[in-house]
Amino acid sequence: MNWKPAPYPWPDGHRAGACFTVDVDATAPWLWQHRTGLPRGIAALEHRQYGRRRGLPRLIEMLGRLDLRATFFVPGVVAEEHPGLLPGLVERGHEVALHGYYHELVSETTDAQFTESLEASIALFEAQIGARPAGFRSPAWEMTPHMLAELRRFALWDSSLMGHDHPYRLDGVTEVPVRWENDDAIFFKFLGPGDNPPHSETEVGARWTREAAAQVRDGGLFMLTVHDWISGRAARVDMLEDLLVPLCQAESIWTATCGEIAAHHQSVTGFEYHARPIVPINERTGHG
Ligand SMILES: [Zn+2]
Repeated sequence: MNWKPAPYPWPDGHRAGACFTVDVDATAPWLWQHRTGLPRGIAALEHRQYGRRRGLPRLIEMLGRLDLRATFFVPGVVAEEHPGLLPGLVERGHEVALHGYYHELVSETTDAQFTESLEASIALFEAQIGARPAGFRSPAWEMTPHMLAELRRFALWDSSLMGHDHPYRLDGVTEVPVRWENDDAIFFKFLGPGDNPPHSETEVGARWTREAAAQVRDGGLFMLTVHDWISGRAARVDMLEDLLVPLCQAESIWTATCGEIAAHHQSVTGFEYHARPIVPINERTGHG
């Protein structure tokens, strides 16, 4: 048992990495949820429309002030309905990557549907930005062996799993890991009575500041995930800016897009794992 793993080799003498990502889910999860028929109410839809109308521009302005390039994961249907979105993000120096076509939940789709959605999303990105996307993030961060095989087939990196503090390779796919605790949805997503009240920006900012400091100390990757319609509100963007400014200024931290981090990982050896090395209990012969 190796109790003290080798430190991760960040480039250019950096001690740690930081990455800011926006999942531009917009109306896609709502469309998927109501795929067999739209509900009478439009409140949740309006809530989500806020992201593209106001939240996303506010996040883009904030990133511009920090001169920070981010990775935006965009479902196909969102790009299709807003054809200026992907080119506009790329023009500002940001990276765009795949996030399902209708933000299909893995638990509600077949392998064949996943492949169809992936191929359609890639074709749409190619048509809109003239280049093949290099990365993928799974809606709701679920993954299957079939999905990993398809990501390998298209040479895509992934950013959906939580198996390490820094980039690693899973069944040959480069993984730029995420964390639920560094996702705004679990703290701020509130769609009405019955949902937990949103946490305060002050509390979440303090928590993420501490997470970032601990990850930097341990030489890991501080990966933050926000959503256009959730974190694009004024006070939340203020909080994000306060959090990100010192990370951008620290010379010891490499702030980079997911794609840059994945590309760097191509030259790193080790940190290779397999998704299913284990035998289920019902196929084992006995204890020990
Ligand atoms: Zn999403």
